[in-house]
Amino acid sequence: MTKKYIYSYKNGDGKNKQLLGGKGANLCEMTQIGLNVPPGFVITSEACLSYLGDPQKNLQDGLMDDVKQHIQAVEKDSAKGFGDPNNPLLVSVRSGAAMSMPGMMDTILNLGLNTQTLNGLIQQTGDERFSYDSYRRFIQLFGKVALEIADEHFDKQFEAVKQRVGAKSDVDLTADNLKEISELFLQVVKDQTGLPFPQDVYEQLEISIKAVFNSWGGKRAVDYRREFNITKDMANGTAVNVVAMVFGNMGNDCATGVGFSRDPGTGENKMYGDYLVNAQGEDVVAGIRTPKAVQEMGQEMPEMYKQLVELRNKLEAHYHEVQDYEYTIEKGVLYCLQTRNGKMNAAAMVRTSVEMVNEEMISKEQALLRLDPELLEQLLHPRLPPNIKAVPLAQGLSASPGAASGKCVFDADRAEMLGRAGEKVILVREETKPEDIHGFFASQGILTSRGGKTSHAAVVARGMGKACVAGAEGITVDTKARQAVIGEQVLHEGDVITIDGSTGNVYVGELPTIKPEFSDELKTLLSWADQIAQLKVMANADTPTAAQQAVEYGAMGIGLCRTERMFNDVDRLPLVVDMILAATQETRQAVLDKLLPIQRNDFKALFKTLSPRPVTVRLLDPPLHEFLPTEMELTEELESLRQLRGTVKGVGNFLSSIRLSQTNSNELPAPFDEMGEEMLNDVIAKKELMLRKVRELYEVNPMLGHRGVRLGITYPEIYAMQIRAILEATAECVKEGIDVQPEIMIPQVTIAQELKRVKESVDSIQKEIESSQGIKLTFKFGTMIEVVRACMRAAPLAEVAEFFSFGTNDLTQASFSFSREDAENKFLPLYNESGILQDNPFEVLDVKGVGQLMSMTVEWGRKTRAGMKIGICGEQGGHPASIRFCHHIDLDYVSCSAPRVPIARLAAAQAKLLEDKYSL
Ligand code: PEP
Ligand code: MG
Repeated sequence: MTKKYIYSYKNGDGKNKQLLGGKGANLCEMTQIGLNVPPGFVITSEACLSYLGDPQKNLQDGLMDDVKQHIQAVEKDSAKGFGDPNNPLLVSVRSGAAMSMPGMMDTILNLGLNTQTLNGLIQQTGDERFSYDSYRRFIQLFGKVALEIADEHFDKQFEAVKQRVGAKSDVDLTADNLKEISELFLQVVKDQTGLPFPQDVYEQLEISIKAVFNSWGGKRAVDYRREFNITKDMANGTAVNVVAMVFGNMGNDCATGVGFSRDPGTGENKMYGDYLVNAQGEDVVAGIRTPKAVQEMGQEMPEMYKQLVELRNKLEAHYHEVQDYEYTIEKGVLYCLQTRNGKMNAAAMVRTSVEMVNEEMISKEQALLRLDPELLEQLLHPRLPPNIKAVPLAQGLSASPGAASGKCVFDADRAEMLGRAGEKVILVREETKPEDIHGFFASQGILTSRGGKTSHAAVVARGMGKACVAGAEGITVDTKARQAVIGEQVLHEGDVITIDGSTGNVYVGELPTIKPEFSDELKTLLSWADQIAQLKVMANADTPTAAQQAVEYGAMGIGLCRTERMFNDVDRLPLVVDMILAATQETRQAVLDKLLPIQRNDFKALFKTLSPRPVTVRLLDPPLHEFLPTEMELTEELESLRQLRGTVKGVGNFLSSIRLSQTNSNELPAPFDEMGEEMLNDVIAKKELMLRKVRELYEVNPMLGHRGVRLGITYPEIYAMQIRAILEATAECVKEGIDVQPEIMIPQVTIAQELKRVKESVDSIQKEIESSQGIKLTFKFGTMIEVVRACMRAAPLAEVAEFFSFGTNDLTQASFSFSREDAENKFLPLYNESGILQDNPFEVLDVKGVGQLMSMTVEWGRKTRAGMKIGICGEQGGHPASIRFCHHIDLDYVSCSAPRVPIARLAAAQAKLLEDKYSL
């Protein structure tokens, strides 16, 4: 055997977790820094792979000889003999891979017991009960793990004895009872395997090593690795630790416990953990007895407590990380059996990061790198308490995080009405559309039965920081009947539900939630992130409320204000509809003149909120038909309206429906029916006009049709109104001494000429305002890069545009030729599950395809315009791995929804700190 397959804890490389596993490496490291670890050695993961690769399933030649030599060293250190009938050494055989996989692989304790060593143990300890207890545990564990005998065969015998002697719990069993059980267990082994229980301790050891190796390929472990995406380069094979047993159950000067070096729930720097006097480790884990809080040890075993505090301090000082450790006290001697980095919740991670920097235990850079940015999501939304007992009624996709409760409502108007009346509501729809926006504002959360994580509902909810569960397919929404059906259950309007947008679960009734916390520690940590990061983090926000939240979360500006969201607000939508229905340019202009002051106020409010940070306003993007009802809706509506005509009752119904929707018009002028008939005819005429317009606007593929800048070219007066509103708002701010940095951004640009045309309009409006108001306006003009041709024509576009912003929602759609909604609803899940595509490219930037287009665009754009400002405002701009790529290709900023701003700030700092290690 030329390769070294076994390392003593005294000389194994504590940094080499791939080879020695996390547990083995840490045991080596702890031994070498002088902590009291029981003597032992580790068989490498390479030995495991070599064994698993052998068709005969033999251990390597010479491996067991090497094991013997290492056992001899352990015998020397422990002053006991393996298989020695008078003074037996017992060992544990434990699995341990590079990545922690709790409970997924096997462990055997008390190995080395046989009929002879058992007597030695009795003599050694003077405790017959303890010895038989250890023996029966060993036979069962060995039988189960190494000989594959089902637990039930042992449990049956165990329970039979317990019942016969009337023992309520295991501790009531006497030494004699346990002796009898041991003998019954030996018989179980013989019956089940046809062979006696192995008496040779080295045979026991060899069988156990093989069993632990085999458990790496067991179903549990394989499923776990798949579930948690543990790849071979993260962990390949398990190491095996063979360690001298120490006993926490040999009397009242013995104990066993588990601890965290800081409180994993809050991060507080204090002793934390549980222990049990006179017990074995598994008793703590199995919950057979209720453990005591570690603080009690201060009174009960003061000397031991002092040593434990020392151990914990040494562990932290060495690892520079919060530790999760296990220990045993055997006859007044403290042994550390295991340590690993502690897993904590987000609040505790943030607090310990900041406090460990203040204690000079770690650097700011280390503090920033120890947190997974996604973890911060926990802190920014109300959430359900962990381990919630309630059973979900349905499940959908976790589309926008946070938990929310409220009464079910099935259309946006009702949501608004009830919301205004102070009710908490959840908007439940099959899917949502832009015209539902007022319902979003009024709701606590949104639930849809169709659509993916980038559906309209998901994107808008995320933008607003509201909880959303999308695509809950088990729910059938019946808007007309104002109800939803889930199997047998029917939810009516007004029934209270809770949705958890972090898990996708939907519950009946109101569940308690935990409030979000943006603590001082988080603020400190993120301020360090900002000092280090190169990328700026902007927010996608369209309303002063969202903008305010973005500022609170530390956004350095608004990278995308979608003006169509402003158009959809209730007081503007009728005007927008009139604008679309206008038959002539004059009538359209008249409506635009009414919209102008509204938009100007919108922009001014945003500029003020963000001052002195930049605000990028994107001119109108979606196709106009999105502001109108669908053809089917209109046809149905017209049909029922026409039926009302000509009868007094029908007109009466019509009028009362108006009265319902117009809350202030309780009194209608007389003569009632004539007047009503006239109004009804007007409404019908308008709906007919609308229907004609909807048909006229029909497009085969609206996403590739008359939208974005194409609208601005064909209806220049619409863009002119928006440009004027932006520049007049700027002028007002300048006059009021408010420092503003507006940016005008054009969507869907494909051809440089398109951009030039809009720029001409901008120039002339700018001149006019400057001369009429006698001021100088400073702003930037730029374009979104959302179509492939725009990437290819980056150089000429950069002659006109002062900045680029990658709209990677559309650019991904265009590059893949996948429509986002169809892909997510139809084939993307299969693509992801079967590994054709690793990620959903609408969530995680496709760096290999879309990323390459971006990289070229950056290069060509900056060749024309040196140092050109370039950012990203698609959904992927808030995703950590995508942010690393954006840093790598030297973007200036990322822009994402407000609640993702803190995540992006941390990710931007990490991108900078990890740039040297970046690879595609
Ligand atoms: C984009 O396409 O990435 C973008 C931000 O625009 P929208 O999502 O509004 O189409
Ligand atoms: Mg777009």
